Amino acid sequence: MNTNSTTPIDFLPQLTGCFAQPAAENPTVAMVEAAYQHHGLHFRYITCEVDPKNLSAAVNGAKAMGWAGFNCSLPHKVSVIKYLDELGKSAELIGAVNTIVRQGNKWIGENTDGKGFLQALKEVIDPMAKHITLFGAGGAARAIAVELALAGASTITIVNRSEERADAVVKLLNENTSTKAFYQPWNKKYAVDPKSNIIINATSIGLFPNVDAQLNIDFNSLLPDMVVADCIPNPPQTHLLKTAANKGCRTIDGLKMLVNQGVIGIKYWTNTDVDATVMHGALKRALNINE
Ligand code: NDP
Repeated sequence: MNTNSTTPIDFLPQLTGCFAQPAAENPTVAMVEAAYQHHGLHFRYITCEVDPKNLSAAVNGAKAMGWAGFNCSLPHKVSVIKYLDELGKSAELIGAVNTIVRQGNKWIGENTDGKGFLQALKEVIDPMAKHITLFGAGGAARAIAVELALAGASTITIVNRSEERADAVVKLLNENTSTKAFYQPWNKKYAVDPKSNIIINATSIGLFPNVDAQLNIDFNSLLPDMVVADCIPNPPQTHLLKTAANKGCRTIDGLKMLVNQGVIGIKYWTNTDVDATVMHGALKRALNINE
C-alpha cells in the first residue's frame, strides 16, 4: 500500500440513498453518483428495497449509521413523516416528503417534486402573478401546485378526471395560500383558457412505454405566448411538448424537473451546487434516452 500520499486516507464516505418499493426501476442513483464523482464528493448513494413494514427499521438504521439523508419514493412518502422531527414549509402543506435531510441531530423532511419543477420553470418564466392550467391532481400535481402558489401564482385551474382528488388540491390552495384555485372537470376534450400563461401536464399520460398517449385537449387552444411544461421524464419530448413547440410555445420537459430534484437533494446533503449537465447526461444514459 502506498502510504506516501499527502492526501489523508478516508475510507468512510457519507451515505445517502433511496428507500422504495419497487426500487430497482429508480434511476436516481445514476445521476446522483455521477455528480458525486464529478465533484469529488466523498458520498455514496444506495438504492434500497424497503417493504412498508420495515420502514421504521430502515429509517432507524439510517439514523444509527449517521446517513447524511435519503430519498423516499413510493410507497413511503407519507408514512415516513412520523419518523421525522420537522418538515419544510411546502412538504408540510403537500403532506408528503421525498427528501430527508440530517441537520445536526434533527431529521427534516422536504419535498423536491415541486421544487425541481419550479426551478426548471423559472429559467423560462416567473410564475408570480401568472394564470396556470394544471392537468392532474395526484402527488406530482399537488406538489407542483403548492410550489407555484408559494411562488405567487395568481390562479391555478386544476383539470382532472377525478373530482374528489382535484377538490382536495383546490381546497388546500384556497385555505393555505393567496392563490385562487379552481376545479374544471375533464370528461370531454378540454379547451385551455386563452388567459392561461402556463400549461402543465402532471398526469401520467405519455409515460414510457405508452409514449403515443395524448391528453384529451383541443390542441388549437394552445397559443404561442403560452409556456407548456410536461412532468413526464421519459420520453422527454412527449406528444404534448412536440405539439406545443410546433405552435410556437416555449416548452419544459420532465427530465429537467427530475435532474433538478437531484441537484436540490445533493445541495441539502452536501451543501454543494452540482453541475446539472453531468447529471442530465448520466440520467439519459441510464434511461437509454437518445433524443
Ligand atoms: P399519481 O398516480 O398520484 O396521479 C396520476 C394523475 O394522472 C392523476 O391526476 C390521474 O387522474 C391522472 N391520469 C392518469 N391517467 C389518466 C388518463 N388516462 N386520463 C386522465 N388523467 C389521467 O401519479 P403522480 O402524480 O405521482 O405522477 C404523475 C406523473 O408525473 C407520472 O408520470 C410521473 O412519472 C411524473 N413525475 C415526474 C417527476 C419528475 O421529476 N419529472 C416527479 C414525480 C412524478 P385521476 O385522479 O382522475 O385518476
